[in-house]
Amino acid sequence: MAEFTIPRLEKLTIQPDVQKLFQSFLKQPCSQTFLWTGPEGSGKKSYALALTRSLFCNEGPACVGCATCRQVLNKTHPDLFWVHRDHFWTTDSQDIDKQGIVVSTARRISEKLNQAVFSAPFKVAIIPGAETLNEKAQDTLLKTLEEPPANTVIILLAEKTGDFRPTVLSRCRLIRFPALSSKMIEKTLVQTHAWKETEAKRAAVESNGNLTQALKLGDGNWMEFRDKVCADFDKALQGPDEDWMMMVAEYDKWEPEFLEERERTATQRKAEVFTSAFQVYLGLWSRRLSGEIETPVKLSSLPVDVVLRCVQKHQDMLKTNLGPKMILDHFFLELREGFQGGELANRSFMEMSVQI
Ligand SMILES: [Zn+2]
Repeated sequence: MAEFTIPRLEKLTIQPDVQKLFQSFLKQPCSQTFLWTGPEGSGKKSYALALTRSLFCNEGPACVGCATCRQVLNKTHPDLFWVHRDHFWTTDSQDIDKQGIVVSTARRISEKLNQAVFSAPFKVAIIPGAETLNEKAQDTLLKTLEEPPANTVIILLAEKTGDFRPTVLSRCRLIRFPALSSKMIEKTLVQTHAWKETEAKRAAVESNGNLTQALKLGDGNWMEFRDKVCADFDKALQGPDEDWMMMVAEYDKWEPEFLEERERTATQRKAEVFTSAFQVYLGLWSRRLSGEIETPVKLSSLPVDVVLRCVQKHQDMLKTNLGPKMILDHFFLELREGFQGGELANRSFMEMSVQI
């Protein structure tokens, strides 16, 4: 994502209700712990950077990129703590295999926030994927969240509130980010990111209300991944069983180019490949549903909307404890049986593990 295009908060209009809330916060900024929730691609990270720009920058709302703003957007400003693998991630050998944000990371966040500001009027800590704070890490952060040190803004970003302890939730100011409409994504791509209208329209349909996904469609490495996934998945649905089994095994080992810079552990990167693949395939079928492209004759025996729901269901399963490889196996088994038998089998994981 080309983050240099994210303006100051005053100019970021993709979530008008949220923007209003933050504009009143900016009139009298104070120490605060926020929890922002909403689906991926609803603009949380963009708003986190836009709000930080507005807190730190002295050039006024129309600033197009002063030295301070550039440091914020590059996440190198000394008063901005963007929690990611290289910055805060654990180096303790006992924590290294655990997923998510562990106690030692939470402790470092608190330590950093207790240091004096360097040059900005506030210290800002932004914690993407805050739902991955494990229980002990949440306990460790509790006191800091409850009473943030002077001139500190803490922003937890998460898809939903379900993974947080009630004690943490009660200490945060909760702000919800609704999913974006296709129209808003199209408008944002044209107005903020200077995309051509036809490309913006196509990306808006394909991204299912997810701005992050839409922006990826401007990245060559991502497009290569997308084309490969679409071709592989279509082929796996039509060919012999060996095809999809080999493909699932390949994806289980694969680290595509676009994942290189990600702020994730090896396990999380693997899950990301599967999640991304499902998102891509969901996008392809959305375009088929909208009539923008045709469904190949061989795959047309099931209604497109049924397939869409099946892809969505398996994508959601990736958020559970089931292994990604098993979910992709299940997906192909269910859809392939549907193509052969005329309706979706809705088969359970128990049945599947007997067959495979
Ligand atoms: Zn600026």
